[in-house]
Amino acid sequence: MFRRFLLIGGPLLIAVWLLLPDGLPRDVLYAVIGALSVAANAVAARRWRSWTWGLFAAGQGAAVVGDLLWLYYANIAHTDPFPSAADGFYLAEYPLLTLSLLMLARRHRTADDRLARLDSAILVAGLALPYWVLLIAPALTDGGSTFGTLIALGYPLGDVLLLAGVVRLLLTAGARNPSFRLVTAAVLTLLVADVTFTFTEDTVGGTVAFLASYLFWGVGALLPSAGSLGDPVPRSPILTHRRLITLTLAVLLAPGVLIMQLLIGVAPSTWAVALSSAGLFVLVVARMAGMVRRLEEQAGQLSEQARRLDELARTDMLTGLPNRRTLAAQLVRDMASTAADGTPLSVAIFDLDHFKRYNDTLGHQAGDDLLAGAAAAWSLLLRDRDTLARYGGEEFVLLMPGCTEEEAAGLLDRLRRATPDGQTFSAGLAVWNGVDRPDDVLHRADTALYAAKAAGRNRMTRAPSPAGARPLQ
Ligand code: GH3
Ligand code: MG
Ligand code: MG
Repeated sequence: MFRRFLLIGGPLLIAVWLLLPDGLPRDVLYAVIGALSVAANAVAARRWRSWTWGLFAAGQGAAVVGDLLWLYYANIAHTDPFPSAADGFYLAEYPLLTLSLLMLARRHRTADDRLARLDSAILVAGLALPYWVLLIAPALTDGGSTFGTLIALGYPLGDVLLLAGVVRLLLTAGARNPSFRLVTAAVLTLLVADVTFTFTEDTVGGTVAFLASYLFWGVGALLPSAGSLGDPVPRSPILTHRRLITLTLAVLLAPGVLIMQLLIGVAPSTWAVALSSAGLFVLVVARMAGMVRRLEEQAGQLSEQARRLDELARTDMLTGLPNRRTLAAQLVRDMASTAADGTPLSVAIFDLDHFKRYNDTLGHQAGDDLLAGAAAAWSLLLRDRDTLARYGGEEFVLLMPGCTEEEAAGLLDRLRRATPDGQTFSAGLAVWNGVDRPDDVLHRADTALYAAKAAGRNRMTRAPSPAGARPLQ
């Protein structure tokens, strides 16, 4: 209801304001439009229990009080005082609005906000220079009372403050809903209105901009999306194309100002340009450093993920043992190392006995538990150099570099007795002859395993030495 009134009535009221002659009714209408926006912001503050909207209402409320004081000076007291109490209220608007914008930016903030903060600083530092050259420096040398100068300085400084607030908000990742856009438009229109007022005699244009700002703010406050004004969105990319262009333009403002001054033949603001460039350089370098750190962080995360994937690819999920692929690589390594130091390499394949029966009676889950439990129990008995791998379903391979056949047979015996839940396995044991290929050794062990099964299970069978075996040790 209120929103529809502002949407349709607002532009109409501005049109009426344009048609009215200078005087009390016109100034009253101006204050009424401002008051409508204050009311709308107050409604939003209440509806969404939001400090953001409350501070917006307070900031604009201060400006409306300033308007009312002006209305009194101009139409009732017939004076034109400067500075006056009205300036106090007008100036109070800037910090209040800025505070609210910064609070909003805080809520928008994602985990890593450093880069967004630096971008805002670069943009504000760049934009502050034209403000300084065009508005602040002239106000400093304007003459008049010191207090008057201070008050006059307050307006461009307030503008820079507000600019910093809106830039900070715009460069922070956050929900861009219609309400957000209207508030942003309202702040920018307010800044344009201020500059128009300072630079041109066009008080009508400037005033219409002020009224438009009130209207944008009021409608923005009454939209349904006003409630999610501060909702954060996921982390932004490191540097978008648009942001890069914006930052480049901001950095180029310093030399740009100097070039403009030289071109039109006014005294160059050497100090201001030098200091602003120095500040911008430092900020840009900090930005680069931050970006490099973020990239390194991401690279670190990627290599950690790659490491985990690699580990997954090498490990058997159920038992946590190395899988068949890892075993093949390890067998080659163990062959090389035992060949190098002339020690034996024993290789065993073993297979749980009657595991199908175990599964069928106790269930598949119990079968899984037995496999995992057995792997854990066997692992406890191994030496550091041994490799136990899951070869297939309930089949395991044990590499025992440096173990003689006797030692290997003893170890297999202990493993067999350590099998949980009273279960057993049959094993085939082969000793590498220093010549066979990996598959040949495994094949010999497997043949011995079959022999162990055939001989009644729950035992270990040694593979016969292959022809041409080279005696080891
Ligand atoms: P044998 O003593 O001759 O080795 O008899 P067995 O029953 O152990 O051998 P068989 O090859 O007949 O059956 C092996 C069973 O192992 C069949 C299969 O369902 C089961 N199995 C294979 N992998 C898994 C697994 O990951 N989990 C479970 N629970 N069972 C498995
Ligand atoms: Mg079996
Ligand atoms: Mg089997």
